[in-house]
Amino acid sequence: MLDFDLSDEHLLLERTVREWAAREVAPKIRDLDREHRFDRRVLPQMAELGLLGASVPAQYGGAGMDYISLGLISEELEYCDTSLRVIMSVHAGLNCLTLLTWGTEDQKQRYLVPQSQGLKIATYGLTEPSAGSDVRGIQTTAVKRDGHYVLNGEKMWISLADVADNFLVFAWSDPEKKKQRDPAGLSCFILERGFKGFSSGTLTQKWGILAGNTGFFKMDDVEVPAENLVGREGEGFKIAMFALDQGRYTVAAGATGLIRACRDASAKYAGERRAFGVEIGQHQLVKEMIAQMESDYQTSRLLWLRSGWLKNVGRRNTRETGLAKWFSTVASERAAGDAVQIHGANGYSDEYPVGRFYRNCKGAVIYEGTREIHKLMQADYVLGYRVDRPTRCELPKFEL
Ligand SMILES: Cc1cc2nc3c(=O)[nH]c(=O)nc-3n(C[C@H](O)[C@H](O)[C@H](O)COP(=O)(O)OP(=O)(O)OC[C@H]3O[C@@H](n4cnc5c(N)ncnc54)[C@H](O)[C@@H]3O)c2cc1C
Repeated sequence: MLDFDLSDEHLLLERTVREWAAREVAPKIRDLDREHRFDRRVLPQMAELGLLGASVPAQYGGAGMDYISLGLISEELEYCDTSLRVIMSVHAGLNCLTLLTWGTEDQKQRYLVPQSQGLKIATYGLTEPSAGSDVRGIQTTAVKRDGHYVLNGEKMWISLADVADNFLVFAWSDPEKKKQRDPAGLSCFILERGFKGFSSGTLTQKWGILAGNTGFFKMDDVEVPAENLVGREGEGFKIAMFALDQGRYTVAAGATGLIRACRDASAKYAGERRAFGVEIGQHQLVKEMIAQMESDYQTSRLLWLRSGWLKNVGRRNTRETGLAKWFSTVASERAAGDAVQIHGANGYSDEYPVGRFYRNCKGAVIYEGTREIHKLMQADYVLGYRVDRPTRCELPKFEL
């Protein structure tokens, strides 16, 4: 029988993350945001709560939670601030779940275990200065030499670039296929910050997710041991897309939390602010915006829950996760715009949180597949132009 109820464990987790974020981060988030400051002190606290290895089995240092739990964590974190959810997206989603699925036992022991325990922080480097949506346009190369790969290139717009210890990096390992733009020439590697020739920096001109770290890293003749190739040579594109199924899931759930934050802030303000002799919540056009937020919140939540359920039972969910990510991020932009509107001039000031929500929401409409790319994907599924083929490795289903 279909069951829409969360378990007691889910409810406890939801409450725990909500209370932690409200207690430890919410009181200082406005200042962190205004000062463009990433607060590293949240990382050990998140590790302590088991969030950084959320859906990784205990045998690899994780908390062994199901995938719905990963979504609940993401929703609660972004209810507080997008920067917190981004940590989950790149570390727990894009990186850890990819290593869990595609990594060798040795890679899991060396990288996944310390990452799941929060001893090491990890991220995902696909985008480059000249290529984002067009993955085949990346320029980073990996040349095999004397038992290792030599990587050269630059990754740009990478979340936690200046914070993370470990990086999943995508590069062309086949120069002929690079010329032909054949994605079967791409491979995936694990890099460590300490590898010679690696350097990183922070993007300082960014105008959203200001309490988060976004940056670039450069690879200048970085020697990567052959054992750090993830999957087989030529599987990089498939691995990159697989990782996005996990990252997009956290983005969808996170955007759902942002919509709820907009709804709650708007409802509170609408009950306090008065215009034309009544509280503004009494005006029908204000009600219309709040009703839209509620509708967007409930719809987004159902979409990511379905995607999490498909992950739990071990079914392919690229289509459903893409739809959840597209719908909820576009809806979060609508909700944040209306939340500012309901707050009037006060919404245009950092005295209230909705301006931060407005700046933060836009990133998710761009990263992990832009709005346009998701629109094309969904049309192609319906038209029969796009069919998901089985991949060699599948995300492990959740087992108690
Ligand atoms: C805050 C932030 C954090 C990020 N974190 C990461 C990260 O951790 N790791 C990582 O690898 N990347 C990250 N990114 C990069 C992000 O994934 C890319 O920005 C995204 O994929 C879009 O690529 P682009 O910026 O090069 O835009 P482009 O691909 O150049 O697109 C520009 C515009 O053209 C449109 N467009 C492109 N192709 C088509 C098409 N075929 N049809 C219709 N329209 C099209 C796009 O939709 C967009 O509107 C991050 C970005 C941001 C803003």
